[in-house]
Amino acid sequence: MVKKKTGSKKKEGKKKIQAKKKVKAKKREETKFIGRTTKIRQSKPATVIEWPRSITHIHTYGMVSPFFEGLRKGEMRATLCPNRECRENRLWIPPRAHCPDCHTEMIWKPLPNPVIGKIYTFTEVVYAGTGIELSTPYWQVDVEIPGLATIPKSYLLYGKPYIGMKVKAEFRTKNPTNTVLDYYWVPYEG
Ligand SMILES: [Zn+2]
Repeated sequence: MVKKKTGSKKKEGKKKIQAKKKVKAKKREETKFIGRTTKIRQSKPATVIEWPRSITHIHTYGMVSPFFEGLRKGEMRATLCPNRECRENRLWIPPRAHCPDCHTEMIWKPLPNPVIGKIYTFTEVVYAGTGIELSTPYWQVDVEIPGLATIPKSYLLYGKPYIGMKVKAEFRTKNPTNTVLDYYWVPYEG
């Protein structure tokens, strides 16, 4: 009994201390500027400021998430329409959650490694738009992959492309970007 009483007294004591601290925290300090100052770009005929802004874009890959998981693991995963009556029985990359032809939910089919394709067309990117995270100039390549209904776009890591050139898919499994940039093509001899 004695111990219990002592215990309860101690608790009360702590509560009192906490309450005092709270009162202290409520004291308001002088308002401070916590932002970043801006640069003045020009002052005539009017003031123009340079004000860097950044946002965090939160985006779900939803039902096509397995595609990005595959890239992280060095695997190219395509989608396939399981509807036997559908006219499109080829694979899709980039993947589709639902069949564009009959709207049936797609199933996943990993492509056997190595993934070998042929350059269908290409273009040299010299001036990339804002947000492109590849150094310029780079070769953007459209690659035909056997069995696919699509001709996906990606980039050639090195070498000079030509139409019909054989290329092999490689994956950014170390330090992945978790975007479609996690696969790219390299020249393939064979
Ligand atoms: Zn279909």
